[in-house]
Amino acid sequence: GLDLPPAAALAQAIHEKYTPFPTDRISTAEVVEAVLAAYKGRTIKALGDLCSGWICNPAAGSPGCKSGQSRDLTTAHSLHFIQVQGLHHTYLRGTPLETVALRGVDLEVGRGQAAGIIGPTGSGKSTLLQFLNGLLTPQTGRVLLDGQDLADPQTNRRAVRFRVGFLFQHPGDQLFERYVGDDVAFGPRAMGLPRQEVRERVRRAMEAVGLPFEQFKDRLTTTLSGGERHKAALAGVLALEPEVLVLDEPTAGLDPRSRRELLTLLRRWREERGGTLVVATHNMEDLAELAEWTYLLADGRVTLSGPTRQVFARSEELTRHGLSTPQATAVVQALRARGLPLSDHPLTISEAADEIAALLS
Ligand code: ADP
Ligand code: MG
Repeated sequence: GLDLPPAAALAQAIHEKYTPFPTDRISTAEVVEAVLAAYKGRTIKALGDLCSGWICNPAAGSPGCKSGQSRDLTTAHSLHFIQVQGLHHTYLRGTPLETVALRGVDLEVGRGQAAGIIGPTGSGKSTLLQFLNGLLTPQTGRVLLDGQDLADPQTNRRAVRFRVGFLFQHPGDQLFERYVGDDVAFGPRAMGLPRQEVRERVRRAMEAVGLPFEQFKDRLTTTLSGGERHKAALAGVLALEPEVLVLDEPTAGLDPRSRRELLTLLRRWREERGGTLVVATHNMEDLAELAEWTYLLADGRVTLSGPTRQVFARSEELTRHGLSTPQATAVVQALRARGLPLSDHPLTISEAADEIAALLS
């Protein structure tokens, strides 16, 4: 259940596609060096050959890209399923402990899209997320879901909470019932669904997160392991069958296997249900896997936003905020800096491996 460091995983992935590539390189610097060594003496391929599918980004001037290959999501993104406009928030306003958490945030997420919120600790990520399902109400600014203003007295806020599932940071702490089955059933019961429907939803949600229903429904929540608590909390949110999932640092504290399972589950949830995802994270590798669009928050403001692969290309700006680009991106950037004709922002390990292997073989 342990993971390789991303640079080592990249070396393995390149090796699988181009067998002479060494598999014993474990840091980004070592992988860069090995690629340069393997590349030495090769003639530069026609740029068109290097354009492997959706890594291409004509807008950013990738070499050899034909238009139409881009997976730039700007158009789909402008459907405005979730809209945040000019949002300010001050905690404990008017007291000596007053803290300004948000200073005018704008954000838009299209239906079925996944947006990542990154930023250093204290930048306002958790505060922002709590507005999306109406846990907090705007003092200044507006939050709309599917065109409905959440602060509007006409809006049924209870219904909104069922449409937008929210998973707090350290979700294991959010269990409060004695038995796992009851905890997962809490939301569907609160929705007033019939018994049989509640049971079916609980079963489906528990199976989806990898807690088999028969085996876990009567387990005491206090006897679950950390990873199982995390899963049970997520099952409780999925049992609402929400249209939107809002997750606050969902992989924090998970071991690599549980993290991998969670990422797979979220991807499947999006594919099968067409769900919309908003995820705050510190983990840039998670972001690369989960979100097509990224907002960088700093000191309560959005300082950068765009397709995730373009945000990752701004490594200086990320570093300035104490964030780092994923190792696969760092390797490709280093290789580009040495003149290798790679397209400008691959994200995941397998995308980077595809490009590099195509260059070497
Ligand atoms: P992040 O999730 O990015 O770490 P938060 O939204 O938790 O950021 O915090 C933004 C700012 O608001 C920080 O300065 C934090 O100390 C403050 N803050 C967060 N929650 C509260 C609260 N309940 N009461 C007072 N201040 C808070
Ligand atoms: Mg937070």
